[in-house]
Amino acid sequence: MQLFEDWKARPVLKESQPTDKAISKKAGYFCLMNHLPQLLREAVDAFAGLPGIGRKTALRLALHLLRQEEDQVRRFSEAVHRFRRDIRTCSSCHNLSDTPLCPICADPSRMRSSICVVESVRDVMAIEDTHQYRGLYHVLGGVINPLDGIGPEQLHIESLIERVRQDTVEEVIMAISPTIEGETTIYYLSRLMREAPVRISTIARGVAFGGELEYADEITLGRSIMGRIPYALKEDN
Ligand SMILES: [Zn+2]
Repeated sequence: MQLFEDWKARPVLKESQPTDKAISKKAGYFCLMNHLPQLLREAVDAFAGLPGIGRKTALRLALHLLRQEEDQVRRFSEAVHRFRRDIRTCSSCHNLSDTPLCPICADPSRMRSSICVVESVRDVMAIEDTHQYRGLYHVLGGVINPLDGIGPEQLHIESLIERVRQDTVEEVIMAISPTIEGETTIYYLSRLMREAPVRISTIARGVAFGGELEYADEITLGRSIMGRIPYALKEDN
């Protein structure tokens, strides 16, 4: 309650007339910042700088470190630092790697005939998690977006075209977000590859599994109809 009174005394807040709830929340924040030891405050700041981590969670994480052995915390910080210092991108597909070729490109069991084009390394991880794809990838590093100043030259397009020219590649799968920028990128890439003897496909766009037709937007539903696939009846054995 004392904090609340202290806070109310601040002239800057009197002007903006915040609600009681906002004041007590802010007061809690200032209490946190004012009374934390400098070292703890720095640790909280470091965690709170990460995406999705609020100050409360940051404080919880910092205090959690205190309950761990010093050696364990040292290994944690070394792992983070080593990751930042030594991580590279694969010389072939631009996926994250700590060797010249990433584990996927280096895996002899992966199909060399198929390249799945994605925007980011997170897309590689998402597709890998499905366990449905056994080919190779190519990480573009984004999509063409003139408004954000991202043109084809900022993306890993040249190296993709070079790879596609190799004899082993038969199919290029565009696993790119169905947005205006994504569609533009697919169109641009397809034009560049139109002379290459490869099959170009896009991932299916349609109604989400478990979704209801009446709630699907008309573009999605329209594409689902246009991109319909033959129904394969599974015979009971
Ligand atoms: Zn690779």
